Amino acid sequence: MSRQIKSIRGMHDILPEQTGAWQWFEAQVRETLSSYGYQEIRMPIVEQTDLFARSIGEVTDIVEKEMYTFEDRNGDSLTLRPEGTAGCVRAGVENGLLHNQQQRLWYAGPMFRHERPQKGRYRQFHQIGVEAFGMEGPDIDAELILLTARLWRRLGLRNVRLEINTLGSSEARAAYREHLVDYFKAHAEVLDDDARQRLETNPLRILDSKNPQMRAMIQEAPSLLDHLDASSREHFEQLQCLLRAADVPFTINPRLVRGLDYYCRTVFEWITDALGAQGTVCAGGRYDGLVEQLGGRHTPAAGFAMGIERLLSLLEADGGLPMAPSPHVYLMLAGEGTGSAGVELSEQLRDQFPGLRLQMNCGGGGFKAQMRRADRSGAQLALILGETELAEGRVTVKPLREGQTEQHTVTQEALAHHLAQALDLATAETRPTEND
Ligand code: ATP
Ligand code: MG
Repeated sequence: MSRQIKSIRGMHDILPEQTGAWQWFEAQVRETLSSYGYQEIRMPIVEQTDLFARSIGEVTDIVEKEMYTFEDRNGDSLTLRPEGTAGCVRAGVENGLLHNQQQRLWYAGPMFRHERPQKGRYRQFHQIGVEAFGMEGPDIDAELILLTARLWRRLGLRNVRLEINTLGSSEARAAYREHLVDYFKAHAEVLDDDARQRLETNPLRILDSKNPQMRAMIQEAPSLLDHLDASSREHFEQLQCLLRAADVPFTINPRLVRGLDYYCRTVFEWITDALGAQGTVCAGGRYDGLVEQLGGRHTPAAGFAMGIERLLSLLEADGGLPMAPSPHVYLMLAGEGTGSAGVELSEQLRDQFPGLRLQMNCGGGGFKAQMRRADRSGAQLALILGETELAEGRVTVKPLREGQTEQHTVTQEALAHHLAQALDLATAETRPTEND
């Protein structure tokens, strides 16, 4: 045997036993977003490296140490996207979607960061991202938060709480930065290496540190909320009013700064205590300067991204996830001529009942082996088409689960009626809605 090739560390297969939950989750997200008027956009997974360096910021964890960057055959520097906002803005500018327009967009897909793999932290992970362009007031910030709150209710997700903060205008932040640097310099002995570096390049990020030794010192640091410009303060107050009016509880966390450079004014995170240090399941904020920074006209914008793996493991811990549906029916075929009759019968039933999940036995096998497959498939009913049944134009219906009626043999005409009743199936003509 030749050597087995393994997947890349931190990058995982999503197996059939899990995809049911993923599809269910994605469907809830899609429907919720659609109910607020958001439209899907699909961007490439690879972009020019510059795009991320210019948007996320040169001195951030992502750009400094987490990007998958490589040279392609032309010698261009390309990067697997570590997040979606930059690509979404690039696409919006390039396709003329943003200038003088409002857009409500979302996307879903894999993101890539070279981090230390652990539970809730992977090198390929999946996000749903939502971005709103062309709206500058706190109403859209509130909408983004309300739609996530609605999504949590729909998913049955408890155990998450909302933290919000404001980063103010870039001028206010620059003034605050000086106070902060003074404060950190006065506490230089507590700073770790990372923080000492950040002191020169990006002191606000020190507030975001997860080092427990620095926690007390950070708690006492001056607060940006005391240095806000008037219009950012008003924006933030209005946002709070809107959230209160909608009955969405929140706490203000003045240390919440987010790890990417492009945010201004509102930032927020949905956090859980149930996933250890990987507690942020959804995070975002306003980024009014980014479109211009990436070559477009000034366009106010706000958005967020949620991590699908973290949300699914939270939902799982919280009481289980739906599986992909099993077939309704497993068709067993035994004897001369039943192969082609089976294909014919299956196709006819699928024509008649578009919602029917029918798995036909393929690859032969004796009665016992087929019975085992039928049982393992999870089907409710086995249909048996043997030589006797074939000769009489009949089919045997064998219930596979407890609490069902006895095995019996019906004509092929009666079968359709029986299946419709037993499985509560709608026929092609009368089918009112897609319910599967
Ligand atoms: P963290 O502080 O946990 O590193 P982050 O601030 O880097 O998160 P964002 O860039 O805001 O995360 O991404 C939004 C969401 O994507 C996160 O809240 C999280 O749910 C998810 N996420 C981010 N990085 C990873 C990862 N490496 N593996 C799995 N999910 C991730
Ligand atoms: Mg991170």
